[in-house]
Amino acid sequence: MAKCWYPVIDYLACAECGTCVSFCSHGVYDKAKAPSPVVVRPENCIDHCHGCGNKCPVGAITYVGDDTGWIPPNGEKAEDENTPCCCGGTSDNENDAKAVLIQYLYLDLTTCDRCIGADAVLEDVLRTISPALETAGYRIKMQKVEISSEELAKEYRFLASPTIRVNGQDICGPVEENACGCCGEISGTDVTCRTFAYEGQTYDVPPKAMLAEKVLKAALGVEPSGCVCGEYTLPKNLKNFFTGKATKDSCCCVDSCQQTDKRH
Ligand code: SF4
Ligand code: SF4
Repeated sequence: MAKCWYPVIDYLACAECGTCVSFCSHGVYDKAKAPSPVVVRPENCIDHCHGCGNKCPVGAITYVGDDTGWIPPNGEKAEDENTPCCCGGTSDNENDAKAVLIQYLYLDLTTCDRCIGADAVLEDVLRTISPALETAGYRIKMQKVEISSEELAKEYRFLASPTIRVNGQDICGPVEENACGCCGEISGTDVTCRTFAYEGQTYDVPPKAMLAEKVLKAALGVEPSGCVCGEYTLPKNLKNFFTGKATKDSCCCVDSCQQTDKRH
C-alpha cells in the first residue's frame, strides 16, 4: 500500500536553511544533501507528524494526505513552535538539546477526577523542579491539550487519558487502564482511563515522586522513555468516549438527561 503521509517541499519558498533535515530523527531527509531538503525515505515519515513543518521558518512544508486542517506556520510563529516530531525529534543545535517540551494530554479538566488530579500533581512537580532545570540552562515549555475529538486524538497519537509526554515521549510507561466513572458519566458509556504503576503499586493519580523522577530523567535524557512512533489506531475505548459524548451533547432531552445524571 502506498505511503500516504510524508512532507512535500515548496522549493520556490524554501530558504535551504536545513532546519527540517536536522530536526527529523526518522531518516526521511537525505542528510548528505543538507541543507537542501531532499525526501529520500517518505515511508519513514510518522503518520500525522508535523514536526519539520512546524519548524520551517518560511512555511515551505506541507504533507501528502494531510486532512487535519493544519496550516504551515512561518516567521516568528515557526520560531516559537517547539512541538517536536512524535518521537521527540533531534537537533544538531545545542540550544535545542536543552529545550524541554512537557505536554499534558487529557480528556476533561472540569469533571474527571483523574485528569484533574494528574494535572495538579504535574503542576506541583513543575513548580518544584523547574527552577533547578532552568538554572542548568534548560528551557521548559508546558503545553496542555484537551483531546476533544477523534481528529485531535489522531493528530496527537493519543492512546489513553491522561498522558504526559516530555519532548514527545510518553514518560509513564506502557498503557494500563481501569474503569473511569467520571469519563463514563461524561460520555454515557463504559470508559477506561489510565492508571500509573510506581514502585509496585498502581495509582489512578500519579504520585508526585513518580512524576518528579520521570520528568527529570526524560528532560535530562537519563532514561529513554516510551516512544509513540509506529502505526496509530484510535483505541476503541476512546472512540466510544467521543461517540458517546457527542451523542450526549446533542441529546434534545437535556432536562431529563440531567435529572438522570443527578440520580447517579
Ligand atoms: S519530522 Fe516528522 S513529519 Fe517531518 S519528516 Fe520527520 S517524521 Fe515526517
Ligand atoms: S526548514 Fe523549510 S526553509 Fe529550511 S530547508 Fe526545510 S523546507 Fe527549506
